[in-house]
Amino acid sequence: MDMAEMARKVAEGDRRALARAITLVESRRADHRADAIRLIEALKDAPDRAIRVGLSGTPGVGKSTFIENFGMMILARGLRVAVLAVDPSSARSGGSILGDKTRMDRLSREAGAFIRPSPSQTHLGGVARRTREAVRLCEAAGFDLVLIETVGVGQSETVVAQMSDLFVLLLAPAGGDELQGVKRGIMEIADMILVNKADGDLKAAATRTCADYAGALRLLRKRPQDPADFPKALMVSALEAEGLERVWNEIGALTEWRRETGHWAARRADQARSWFEEEVRAALLARLETAEARTRLGDLGARVAAGELAPAHAAQLFLDRD
Ligand code: GDP
Repeated sequence: MDMAEMARKVAEGDRRALARAITLVESRRADHRADAIRLIEALKDAPDRAIRVGLSGTPGVGKSTFIENFGMMILARGLRVAVLAVDPSSARSGGSILGDKTRMDRLSREAGAFIRPSPSQTHLGGVARRTREAVRLCEAAGFDLVLIETVGVGQSETVVAQMSDLFVLLLAPAGGDELQGVKRGIMEIADMILVNKADGDLKAAATRTCADYAGALRLLRKRPQDPADFPKALMVSALEAEGLERVWNEIGALTEWRRETGHWAARRADQARSWFEEEVRAALLARLETAEARTRLGDLGARVAAGELAPAHAAQLFLDRD
């Protein structure tokens, strides 16, 4: 496949070409990797104005309901939305549980939407590296909003926050003492906390929970990338599509402020730099996985174990020949 041709189609917003391009960047084959790098390079001058929003929340909190109705609202404004997933559990379950088209049935049938399930790879790091490229491809394809979804477990929020312009945490209404359930580290990376299910019987609890989080956010150290009233906690009902316009307006306000103050560009520059460093690190580690490297590691390791070589000396010998 001609990468210039594929780049042209992606840049035209061709969703089939975009899907194929993402499959390419997810591939672990060396020749595919080389093509993927060429493809991304060919798209260097494609649009970079998408808003990349990371969205996290535990299973059942309402992520797919939110994405479906939020996405429909975005489309109604004449904008286009792409949904990608980083799924740290796909390795365990053997399949992807996020970004699944069947979970966002209406949205997936819309011409202005693009939904991509999570790649099934074993390492979160590997998934993250490729998802970054998928984000870039969606942006190059002219999507206005790229939502990167993840379940709130372990490190995945941090990973997603690192590839987003802003990070949204979706929470359910809870009893007062459950606030501690959200780790401080997650609060610190959130730009917006949305307390979902603020409807019917749950509305009162949602109001309390939202006030609790608003209070907790005020106690956090002020970050330079925030205007005066951020990060903030808001109530939404994904199911009844309530509060979603407000969320979009807040995202818009935060985006505008960060663009004007230079924080937006600075964050992307930082992300690009650490992406580069991660690529180098991953490539160096991959060199240890070759048959030859394994043999040499095994041989030198045996000599270390036998007391013939000191560990540091053996490491030096290994690296010197690399
Ligand atoms: P996910 O696992 O985070 O993707 O959550 P889902 O979107 O699948 O929602 C889990 C359950 O919560 C479903 O039964 C939804 O109908 C319900 N749900 C989602 N959003 C809301 C909401 O705003 N209000 C209420 N009452 N239920 C909701």
